[in-house]
Amino acid sequence: MKKIIFATGNAGKMKEIREILSDMEAEILSMSEAGIQADIVEDGTTFEENAVIKARTIADIANEIVLADDSGLEVDYLGKEPGIYSARYMGEDTSYEIKNQNILDRLSGVPKEKRTARFVCAIAAALPGGEVMTVTETVEGYIGERPAGTNGFGYDPIFYVEEYGCTTAELTEEQKNAISHRGKALRAMKEKLRQHGF
Ligand code: IMP
Repeated sequence: MKKIIFATGNAGKMKEIREILSDMEAEILSMSEAGIQADIVEDGTTFEENAVIKARTIADIANEIVLADDSGLEVDYLGKEPGIYSARYMGEDTSYEIKNQNILDRLSGVPKEKRTARFVCAIAAALPGGEVMTVTETVEGYIGERPAGTNGFGYDPIFYVEEYGCTTAELTEEQKNAISHRGKALRAMKEKLRQHGF
């Protein structure tokens, strides 16, 4: 069976990835399952560049298909911050309670129509032989007035989706996967891989 390595150490992401790619005839491995350790310097200037850097770095070590993602939150009123720095915003070790409150404070008094935001996810696939394919998908929403919900992670408690009238932290995992940036990007990448005969 073909192997696909997903360049992440995040167990939550691996679960989501396995679910969405479960109908591919391939064994999906995390980096640790593939026995790969690498310090990846994410010095790209876009989500797509960072996803390509991660996928290429691991593909140079393993001779398999390697997928990697890079994602984050763009808040329009804040000039698309935190963007590619979403994980590092206010410091990697700062809690999301504090990061989320800081974003709410920076948007204090800003009306709903100016609170638009989106989650972005870029996925890169590095194929044996050197070819790299990318997809980028988003989910549009807005930053609410206060946090709500305990599902999900990161910025989910402040990110509201119009369709559901609640935050992505109030959606079930299934509901979120159906509309999320990462869910859409993974499904789009699955199609691209299929078109390439994988
Ligand atoms: P990555 O793991 O390098 O892609 O960093 C993604 C960062 O963006 C996470 O640490 C979160 O801060 C944020 N992020 C990405 N996707 C989501 C999501 O679905 N919900 C909440 N926060 C997210």
